[in-house]
Amino acid sequence: MGGADWGQGADEWVFSLAATPDDPATFDDEYTIGRVRAALGIDDLEVRVHQISHWRLESVLADRYRFGRVFLVGDAAHRHPPTGGLGMNSAIGDVHNLCWKLAAVLASEANDSLLISYEQERRPVALRNSKQSLANFYQHGEIDAALGLSADLSPAAGWEAVGELFAEGPVGDAKREAVGRAADDKGREFRAQNLEIGYTYTGGALVADAAFDPSGLDEVCEYVAGAWPGHRVPHAWLDRRGEQVSTVDLAARGSFVLFVGTEGDPWVAAAEAIDHPGLAVIAVGRGCAYEAPGDRWAALRGVGPAGAVLVRPDQHVAWRSEGRVDDPTGTLSAAIALRTRTTRCRLLSEEPRD
Ligand SMILES: Cc1cc2nc3c(=O)[nH]c(=O)nc-3n(C[C@H](O)[C@H](O)[C@H](O)COP(=O)(O)OP(=O)(O)OC[C@H]3O[C@@H](n4cnc5c(N)ncnc54)[C@H](O)[C@@H]3O)c2cc1C
Repeated sequence: MGGADWGQGADEWVFSLAATPDDPATFDDEYTIGRVRAALGIDDLEVRVHQISHWRLESVLADRYRFGRVFLVGDAAHRHPPTGGLGMNSAIGDVHNLCWKLAAVLASEANDSLLISYEQERRPVALRNSKQSLANFYQHGEIDAALGLSADLSPAAGWEAVGELFAEGPVGDAKREAVGRAADDKGREFRAQNLEIGYTYTGGALVADAAFDPSGLDEVCEYVAGAWPGHRVPHAWLDRRGEQVSTVDLAARGSFVLFVGTEGDPWVAAAEAIDHPGLAVIAVGRGCAYEAPGDRWAALRGVGPAGAVLVRPDQHVAWRSEGRVDDPTGTLSAAIALRTRTTRCRLLSEEPRD
């Protein structure tokens, strides 16, 4: 935790230990200092306790995220074990989702129905993250079990069980395979790209189009980049007069961003006509302000050179158009007025509760 220095020179450290919730020893400085000394094998280590704090192993999710003028975000809305590192991620995702909506309503650019989409969009994400964090926690036990360790073994028996991992022959082979399998399963916790950046809103302040089909994908690890409405805008490098810039950064302007292609002039005119506060138009393609080396962006955006992709201030895609339309101004105006397009995909009461 730093102190005089960071890294090995730090003189303030965190020491984590597990206990049953009713164990009075966990509030006791002397007991904790004893555990620190035993763990480090330094009997006379001088330890000063700054603070003992507790967290309970649980996976809980609020039934509702909004109570009148009060919105729940972060740990107030969902708490789960830190295995997977999703707690703060989910908290920041909540606030990222809510703050632009609040700003729009407070500025009278949207009505209250935009705020309903906060729970619609974020609660399913927290439900999935909570479940996976708990599963990640229990997977620790699978490695112990594969090693042959259990709480009732004596230290000698425990070392013997671990020693088999290095044994020649079938016993060692079987143990190595079992431990390898358990460790590989456990590794999913650290490869959870889809939970971290692939979370998608299937209903809420967006206009759904051709449904993204996640069947067959590992919903924890397999992130598929694409500009489907509800998805986070996918990353592609663009080039602006020799300067490399990511589409993700271009969409982080705190306002709506409309990506158009080489035949996007009608959309540019439409954006000028509707004059939405902060709306930025980014033209990408040969001869445009931004060039897209290779064909990655064209593939990711999923629309033609006359199409458009509208990204919300929280970097999630709100709507897109495959190509030219008869009334670009009316179409864009309706798309950006998400208050009239808030779709209820699933009733929240239909979400599994546990
Ligand atoms: C051991 C551990 C490891 C973790 N590791 C990770 C990780 O690697 N990655 C990750 O993403 N997340 C991790 N988390 C989870 C993460 O810390 C939490 O999800 C995150 O801090 C939640 O942020 P929050 O702002 O919602 O709540 P908090 O961080 O709890 O903030 C709430 C604040 O409100 C204050 N407060 C409470 N009541 C009042 C009051 N009445 N008046 C004024 N202030 C008040 C509190 O003192 C606190 O400062 C971990 C958690 C633990 C316990």
